[in-house]
Amino acid sequence: MRILVVEDEPRLLRNLAKALREEGYAVDTAGDGVEGAFKAVDYDYDAIVLDVMLPKMDGWEVLARVRETKKTPVLLLTARDATSDRVRGLDTGADDYLVKPFDLPELLARVRALIRRSKGQPKPEIALGDIVIHPRTRAVTRAGAAVTLTAREFAILEYLALHRGEVVSRTTLYEHLFDENDDTLSNLVDVHIFSIRKKLGHDLIATRRGQGYCIEA
Ligand code: CA
Repeated sequence: MRILVVEDEPRLLRNLAKALREEGYAVDTAGDGVEGAFKAVDYDYDAIVLDVMLPKMDGWEVLARVRETKKTPVLLLTARDATSDRVRGLDTGADDYLVKPFDLPELLARVRALIRRSKGQPKPEIALGDIVIHPRTRAVTRAGAAVTLTAREFAILEYLALHRGEVVSRTTLYEHLFDENDDTLSNLVDVHIFSIRKKLGHDLIATRRGQGYCIEA
């Protein structure tokens, strides 16, 4: 999953990006509203964390621009616990909000829930036959036994599982799993898929020649 964080306070931006990367997300950042709106519209993020008080263009305007073309889930960060701000945020198309200052674990839980809901996944765990994926702990079990995946392998498996029944192209996988700071040459998707199959069975992920990969629904 790839997330955009739009926040002008450098230290908070750094901390948010770091915490999200530690959770296995690819993270892009923007330090003002104009850059945030540009990236948010240009790119299909899995979620956007958007501060309301931003230089150049405020979060309301960024949100309104995103909603002209995109359904991307948006978590709004509001500076004060004012009902009017929350109502305005939800009415402008935010999916959830958090009042500053907030606890990181709560932000991470809300981002997980937003992504889950946006993919039509009602339950926190994803079951694929006897394989169960646990996004919160990034653990995978097969017939009840733990299987160890690398962070990249987990990210690919989770993305395919959340889009099961769809053919996902290599390009889409690259775009959703690697952020603007990644060195894509070291991130060959095929190699990770090969390794996931070795650990979880060859039949789990099908290759559609010329199209991409698919986990059957
Ligand atoms: Ca701010």
